[in-house]
Amino acid sequence: MHSGLSTARPEVDAAARIFEVARSEGRQFVMEPEAKEILRAWGITVPQGFLCHTPEEALTAATKIGYPVVLKIVSPQIVHKSEAGGVRVGITGDEGLRQAYVDIVDATTRAAGPDAVRGMLVEEMAGGLEVIIGGVRDAQFGPLVVFGLGGIFVEVLKDVAYRLAPVVMAEATRMIKEIKGYPLLAGARGRRPADEQVLADILVKVSNLIAALPEVRELDLNPVLVDGSRVIAADARIIID
Ligand code: ADP
Ligand code: MG
Repeated sequence: MHSGLSTARPEVDAAARIFEVARSEGRQFVMEPEAKEILRAWGITVPQGFLCHTPEEALTAATKIGYPVVLKIVSPQIVHKSEAGGVRVGITGDEGLRQAYVDIVDATTRAAGPDAVRGMLVEEMAGGLEVIIGGVRDAQFGPLVVFGLGGIFVEVLKDVAYRLAPVVMAEATRMIKEIKGYPLLAGARGRRPADEQVLADILVKVSNLIAALPEVRELDLNPVLVDGSRVIAADARIIID
């Protein structure tokens, strides 16, 4: 047990504490709010958000954040939230939020049983180009950091760049320029160009995280939303051993 150990690295301690909770509940993954707490500790920007347990709490959270908001299931049984009917984006008012809350409880309870709902995450609605940043621990090569554009670019076209972790800024910048979809990041089709420094900085941080935390088998930030210099990890999944 390393619960009492302190490494003098708060970002490592924060992760260890959360992994311990997951293990104690027999989970091999950390839930999204937990994963985002780890990201925050590592200096990676996540949407403003609140974990809520009632529709009233969700309304209060939405007032603090400001509409539009996103509502997402928090469940120890649900890894892929959308597939279970657990995500609503673009909620523009109190009425819609109440309805979305009820709908998500319904859908996820049907998908994963009566104990599915641990809570709801109310989040600021971010926007921009979807990219993915990941980390995997390869049996042969060790920790790797992965970068690509989201959606069909990664799923169909496999347009991704890999490196051994950790990487430094120069290497992370090369990863960004290396993918075939790079022109989209650089501002093709009338988009605001991505701030490559900010994006590279997140790649470096994710690479440091996967290299420093041997318990992490897989880390998946999908999507990271890129709008100029606003680069926000809108979803985070961490699989642990
Ligand atoms: P999952 O991958 O588990 O289905 P996500 O958290 O990725 O769930 O949410 C599904 C989709 O909803 C994302 O791919 C993204 O398009 C959108 N989304 C999620 N959170 C936000 C957010 N905070 N701001 C904007 N869009 C979001
Ligand atoms: Mg996702």
